[in-house]
Amino acid sequence: MRNRLLFGAGKAEGRGDMKELLGGKGAGLAEMTRIGLPVPAGFTITTECCDHYLKNGRKLSGSLRAEVKKNLARLEKVTGKRLGDAKDPLLVSVRSGSARSMPGMMETILNLGLNSRSVEGLAQKTNNPRFAWDAYRRFVQGYSTVVIGLPKDDLESKLRALKIRRKVKDDTELDAEDWKNLVQEYKCYFKDSVQKPFPEDTVEQLWGAIAAVFDSWMAEKAVTYRRVEHITGLLGTAVSVVQMVFGNTGENSGTGVCFTRDPSTGQKTFYGDFLVNAQGEDVVAGIRTPMQLGEMAKLMPKVYKQLERARGILEKRYRDMQDMEFTVEEGTLYMLQTRTGKRAPAATFRIAVDMVKEGLITRKQALMRITAEDIERLFYPVIDPSVAPRELEQRKIARGINAVPGAAVGVAVFTAHEAEAMAKEGKKVILIRRETSPEDVGGMAVAQGILTATGGKTSHAAVVARGWGKCCVVGCEGLEVDYANKMMSVDGRVVRQGEWITLNGTEGIVYQGEVPLVVPEMPKDYFTILKWSDETRQIGVRANADTAQDARKAREMGAEGVGLCRTEHMFFKDFEQPELSHERQLAIQEMIIAETEELRRKALDKLRPFQRRDFAGIFREMDGCPVTIRLIDPPLHEFVPHQPEQQKELALKIGVAPEVVARRVEQLYESNPMLGHRGCRLCITYPEILEMQVGAIIEAAIDCKKEGIKVIPEIMHPLVMDKKELQVLDAATRKVADEIIQKAGVKLHYLVGTMVELPRAALLADQIAEVAEFFSFGTNDLTQTVMGLSRDDAGRFLPDYLDESKTTILSADPFQTLDTEGVGMLIEWAIKKGRSTRKHLEIGICGEHGGDVKSVKFCHDVQMDYVSASPFRIPIARLAAAQAAIISPNKRVRGRAHH
Ligand code: PEP
Ligand code: MG
Repeated sequence: MRNRLLFGAGKAEGRGDMKELLGGKGAGLAEMTRIGLPVPAGFTITTECCDHYLKNGRKLSGSLRAEVKKNLARLEKVTGKRLGDAKDPLLVSVRSGSARSMPGMMETILNLGLNSRSVEGLAQKTNNPRFAWDAYRRFVQGYSTVVIGLPKDDLESKLRALKIRRKVKDDTELDAEDWKNLVQEYKCYFKDSVQKPFPEDTVEQLWGAIAAVFDSWMAEKAVTYRRVEHITGLLGTAVSVVQMVFGNTGENSGTGVCFTRDPSTGQKTFYGDFLVNAQGEDVVAGIRTPMQLGEMAKLMPKVYKQLERARGILEKRYRDMQDMEFTVEEGTLYMLQTRTGKRAPAATFRIAVDMVKEGLITRKQALMRITAEDIERLFYPVIDPSVAPRELEQRKIARGINAVPGAAVGVAVFTAHEAEAMAKEGKKVILIRRETSPEDVGGMAVAQGILTATGGKTSHAAVVARGWGKCCVVGCEGLEVDYANKMMSVDGRVVRQGEWITLNGTEGIVYQGEVPLVVPEMPKDYFTILKWSDETRQIGVRANADTAQDARKAREMGAEGVGLCRTEHMFFKDFEQPELSHERQLAIQEMIIAETEELRRKALDKLRPFQRRDFAGIFREMDGCPVTIRLIDPPLHEFVPHQPEQQKELALKIGVAPEVVARRVEQLYESNPMLGHRGCRLCITYPEILEMQVGAIIEAAIDCKKEGIKVIPEIMHPLVMDKKELQVLDAATRKVADEIIQKAGVKLHYLVGTMVELPRAALLADQIAEVAEFFSFGTNDLTQTVMGLSRDDAGRFLPDYLDESKTTILSADPFQTLDTEGVGMLIEWAIKKGRSTRKHLEIGICGEHGGDVKSVKFCHDVQMDYVSASPFRIPIARLAAAQAAIISPNKRVRGRAHH
């Protein structure tokens, strides 16, 4: 195990590229030392030590203690001071820092090394007792709260009481004697609470601080932050022990934070804050208003020049915008930290594009630097960052699974029907359901956001919401939804229909009341980045789009076709003429209830014109691009009412006895519908459904073709498991299609293919490809069937598999990021087998994974022709495909099924 690495006096054992081991802070300090910037001396305890500590009963091992002591001795030599010295003590800060920046999530202890003797030494040496005692009380305060865990407020209230007693407002008005008294008070409180005196032994202080920083890696806020930011695979935090420098020794000192470019806009201006006569924590705490760097330049021109120089050097070195912390001690500049700066979404794109133009980085480097989250954050409204965290905390009522990011605000409503009615009146609504089903799409479409008590990231609600880029929180298990009384409750807090709530889909949080949101604007550099992505990537990007509106959005987002049109989503809502929705619903329900083929056909005839219009709409939007249309997939029971009242209503409308409806619904009941009568099995039983849908597709294609539109239809059969099964469907499809084409006297090329969503289909892909002209991996179902995890219910226990404080059995939710090991192995097999019998077999993916960065990389690597993602994930897929091509370029050119 590598224990520690020293830096100081212009030399460093570590380097800037050792972030994994030294953490961002440690690596930055080492690198800055190396390139000759002024950095206080110190040493860094590696992340491996943290890992060891956490895995071994949270004890500092003997070897670590020995190493630290050795390094402390070296540090004392370099600085010429000793820890706890009664004359001229060395003071250190003990700082956290992991490989990925987690601002404010972990702990830091300042001014360590003070005790009742060394504080006097510091007072004498600096000739400033007030400063020394202030430093000491800061240390006692920090140590008591961070290391021991005493309530911060208890200590702060003592400081407040002191100021009241002394009738002063500002800390700066207190003198040495005041601080001395406060230290005494703190120490008494410490002894009362912990039953032992505050440690005088400075080395003991050091052990406590190191352990506390290690522990803070597993603190709830840090764990949560990593979960939200998808930070996995890190060992822990490093600990940098650094000589203290003081910005609070007088008017010639100060401390500040600066960015090499403006982090909100990305503009190339030197940006930052500076506080005279202050310590770092004062800047962060925001107690005093700092001055801007421009003012500092006037006040301390020499130091400012040095700082400017550091800015230039560091940006050139790291080739990215840096966020730097510095302190000025008696006119001498010290750099305390440099790290890649967090930036607003728009600034991310601007900085990347500008740096390419400036020749600092290449286009490829710029593309590699943008993340899916950077793109996501550009699109969705977010909670106004000016809302105080404390207010949010008070409003927070529940936490669920963050299914679709962004934020939404509206009044609570508990049925889709009422959601539509309220939206019609111009109200903003949040639809709250236990779970959603296709019947709810109307209400979902008009809602600002969707909240469900059950379900995971590929539940119906999540999939539909994602398709619309609509904020969605699912799997909110603590939520009790009471439809009868139109209310929900969590831990005794109640929200009734009509009351405001706010969703944060990025983090999966539900807030009571109306929290203000802001909608960011799309920066021009975003378009540049995506243009570069398209020029770089080697696989196609299509969209999962069910309607003409979706298709238009998808093209705007850069889709090159439709990879999945889920036809059944149009059974319940007419997106173009909403007033006709009812007719469609009735027709499909009539078809399902029908007890003879003849009656079924009659109902299907009513549905046909609707479907034809829907398909034509998509073809028009996708002029010149392939459109993959999947035939009906869900089990029929999803389309019929289950309540006796609604069944009666339906019976009346379609002119049958209520018993007929009830009986049919009863018949359709399956105990395991996901493995039941669904997918292409429906058309095996009811070929007339296939006839209607294929007829509508081909008629729509012919109509469009006559208008001069280039149509490229691909008819797709879902849930196929066998070659013969597909043969039957393929023959039926071609019979209907060819007849219509012939009658119309036009030339129309179309493909017939299959989804691969069952292990058997993947295993026998060579046989299936003898019939199928294309494959589309339905990885939602494939994951479900390969892993034996229900996509609708697994959300309840998957968190246990992902929880890093428990097991971390899985590194990611397999419904979100493809399980490349297991499911992926089957996909690779199917591709190899499929192309062995059909060389130009067109292959894509249309499960939710098509919009996930890591999964897209896999799709590129196994040489798929395209990925298909919901419209709002298209830009992410374009970028991810480009990144995959940069990391491992493919030799194979895309398949040419249509040529
Ligand atoms: C799939 O199973 O991956 C798929 C795309 O189909 P659906 O989500 O509609 O079942
Ligand atoms: Mg499926």
